[in-house]
This record gives sequence, C-alpha cells and structure tokens, in this order.
Amino acid sequence: MPLMRLAYASEATFEPKPVDQGVEPHVARILMTSRRNNGRSDLMGGLYYGDNRFFQYLEGDEESVLKTYERIKGDERHRNLTKLIEEPLEKRTFSNWSMKYVPLSSDVRRFLASHNLDSFDPASFTAVQCEEMIGLIRSSSQSQKLVGYDDESVEAPKKAQVYTPAIRMGLFVAAACLLGALVFAGTML
Ligand code: FAD
Repeated sequence: MPLMRLAYASEATFEPKPVDQGVEPHVARILMTSRRNNGRSDLMGGLYYGDNRFFQYLEGDEESVLKTYERIKGDERHRNLTKLIEEPLEKRTFSNWSMKYVPLSSDVRRFLASHNLDSFDPASFTAVQCEEMIGLIRSSSQSQKLVGYDDESVEAPKKAQVYTPAIRMGLFVAAACLLGALVFAGTML
C-alpha cells in the first residue's frame, strides 16, 4: 500500500473555554476520537491548536489518510480548511503517535517570532514553515493530559494535592506521639 502525507490548516468554530490547565475540552474530545481511529488505521501525525486555529499533519497509507481527511473535512468544529501538503511518502517519519498533541507552546511562539508572525495562522504558512511546524511536532516531547469537564471518557483534571508527603509524615508523627501519651497515661492510672 503506498504511503502519503497530508497537512492542512483550519479555524475552530467553537468558542475556546478558558481552562487553567490541560487541553481545551473540544480539542480533548477531538484527540480522543483521533487517537482511537488513527490507531486502528495505523495513521500517525500531530495536531497543533493555538489562537483558535488548527494545524494537523497526518501520514500513513494513502487510503486511510484520504478517508480520514474526508471525515475531518465534514466536521463542523472547524471551517475554512486549507490543504498545505498532499504528497507521496517514501517511509514513515513518525513513530508511536496516532495523534500527538502540542498546544501553542513556547517552541511555537519562538518559531512565530523567528518568522515575524504575530499570531498562529497556519493557512498562510510557506512550504518551509510547514516543514518547520512538522519538525516541531515530531521533536516535541510534550504530551499534555486531556481534560474534558463534561465527558467521562476524558481524563479529569487532578485535584490539588492537599496532603503533601511532608504533611503526611507530620500527621503520622503527631498521631504516634498522641498514642504514646495515651498509653503512658493509661499505665500511670
Ligand atoms: P464518533 O464516535 O461518531 O464521535 C466521536 C466523538 O466526537 C463523539 O463524542 C461525538 O459526539 C463527537 N463528534 C463527532 N463529530 C462531531 C461534530 N461534527 N461536532 C461535535 N462533536 C462531534 N478524526 C479522526 O479519526 N482522526 C483524526 O486525525 C482527526 N482529526 C481531527 C482534527 C480536527 C481539527 C477536527 C475538528 C476533527 C478531527 N477528527 C479526526 C474528527 C473527525 O472529524 C470525526 O469527528 C471523527 O473521525 C468521527 O469518527 P467516529 O465516527 O469514530 O466518531
């Protein structure tokens, strides 16, 4: 089966929810579905989401890439898809990532600054800039936890850890002292 790669840019149609940590909930749901489906079809790639825009890169066998792109095109969570790359691929360049997620990170900010770009607008990227973006996805070690507040299948944000190991140790020592005092008092009676 011939391999191919495809990259496109699009604009999100949803209003981004301000979240303190983790991934925008709409994007988290997209990632959950993508990872499940792409894993089955042996597709690899990555997704950037920033300034309410997407940049997605996919590689795999031609049929799976094109079928998946057809589904993606019909999704109302984004619009104005601009195909940036569509070409045959000799061998795979991604490993172990059915859909790697990288939010608008300091790496991307640096990349934008180095090209004098004010915001993340991948539809206007040149061929060289596209390759740089793909390189950033590939080299990023980051894989942020998925946060979705209204979807149980998505990992929920962790509650702040109130009892740190030091506090737990202090409580244990206090409890042991109290027990010792009670035993001592008991023997004195
Ligand atoms: P389903 O099991 O039918 O749906 C999965 C979940 O997504 C459900 O919770 C459903 O409510 C929700 N959902 C599906 N479609 C919509 C919609 N139009 N609006 C709101 N919620 C919806 N899919 C992939 O398989 N691989 C990808 O790499 C991929 N990348 C994407 C990138 C972007 C930027 C976007 C917007 C979507 C992407 N998708 C991807 C999702 C794709 O558009 C389809 O929604 C998905 O492939 C449907 O797969 P399914 O039939 O298995 O999902």
